[in-house]
Amino acid sequence: MGESNHVHDAFQVPFAQRPVVILGAGIIGCATARQLLQHGFSVVLVAEFLPGDQDIYYASAWAGAAWHAAGGITADQRYYQAVTHRVMHKMAQNPESGVSVVNAREYLEQEPASDSAIWGRTVVSKFRELDPKDYPSNFNCGWAYETLVTDPTRHMPYLRNQILALGGKFIRQHVESLHELYEMFPVSRLFINASGLGSKTLADVKDDCCFPERGQNVFLRTDNCKTLYFRNGKEYTYVIPRPLSHGVVLGGVKEQDNLSPEVNMDIARDEIARAHRLAPDIVPEHPADDAVSHIIGIRPSRRGGFRLDSEQKDHRTILSAYGFGGGGYAFSYGIADALVKMVEQAERKNVII
Ligand SMILES: Cc1cc2nc3c(=O)[nH]c(=O)nc-3n(C[C@H](O)[C@H](O)[C@H](O)COP(=O)(O)OP(=O)(O)OC[C@H]3O[C@@H](n4cnc5c(N)ncnc54)[C@H](O)[C@@H]3O)c2cc1C
Repeated sequence: MGESNHVHDAFQVPFAQRPVVILGAGIIGCATARQLLQHGFSVVLVAEFLPGDQDIYYASAWAGAAWHAAGGITADQRYYQAVTHRVMHKMAQNPESGVSVVNAREYLEQEPASDSAIWGRTVVSKFRELDPKDYPSNFNCGWAYETLVTDPTRHMPYLRNQILALGGKFIRQHVESLHELYEMFPVSRLFINASGLGSKTLADVKDDCCFPERGQNVFLRTDNCKTLYFRNGKEYTYVIPRPLSHGVVLGGVKEQDNLSPEVNMDIARDEIARAHRLAPDIVPEHPADDAVSHIIGIRPSRRGGFRLDSEQKDHRTILSAYGFGGGGYAFSYGIADALVKMVEQAERKNVII
């Protein structure tokens, strides 16, 4: 009797009209919602924090956010970054998106390893290896290229507006479990867990690999904000331009399991000093106090890297996409693209029976 009701129900609401439910409205949930809506799916996002909010646990409000090729990742993961670059490069034509094309200079202390970030030369524009006279003598090599930076204070509201214009819905709500969502949306068959660090505590996820990784950046107001500087070696330091907000973001630090919302002035002073050494033409040794403000955010990191997979639980498909640590923006639209394909596979299984 129960089963026949279930079969009957399944034909009452066609699959494509059952909302895909996304838990989380950070860059991962919102990029995915936009892409699903563009493919004609109906989408509801449920989240405690929504675009425009500023809570240290809402990582997407605080990112740098530069597109930088990650080292040590798989071919599939590289492709997610490449897709992101393609989508965001187009967005950069519209300043409302908060995405800008900037020059980048990257200095390395050692020969690049075989799985280093250099693979990104196939994705970015105008890549060239620098002549030793064009980078400081304490480095082994240097690269120049064009890359993308995203101003999250503009990009998240831009995404919210796009999602609403495409017919998506936001519900502000904290949930204790995915099960709570199943009860809220009984006709839905597809649920996407894009809850970032939330996956550590959701009762039916409790992913112990997830951990918080605190970031604290300095925002320096300056009109000299057209070039990104990056060094990854003994020092992990970046200067990320934010041209639409007339400033640069100086970082970085990664502090595991520190959850303090207070500015640590020792870190701030150290970041300014490191950024000055890396880009003295942009960052003065002693910037004026009124030109400096601070950014604090908790990265949703995960031991073993991010999770992206599909599980079948009874008649529901659960897609997981969380744990993006310090790279959620650089992976975002590629992950959204992969999730759309996973949703379409589930759709096919449901409609071709
Ligand atoms: C200082 C700093 C600098 C960074 N720089 C860069 C950079 O240069 N480039 C880059 O690519 N990335 C960067 N990042 C990383 C990037 O910000 C993150 O990887 C990305 O924002 C993660 O997005 P997300 O959507 O997975 O998670 P989040 O943005 O944290 O969103 C999680 C969502 O899930 C919701 N949620 C969680 N649990 C629940 C629950 N139980 N109930 C309801 N809702 C829930 C939250 O409310 C929120 O809406 C940086 C991060 C920081 C902090």
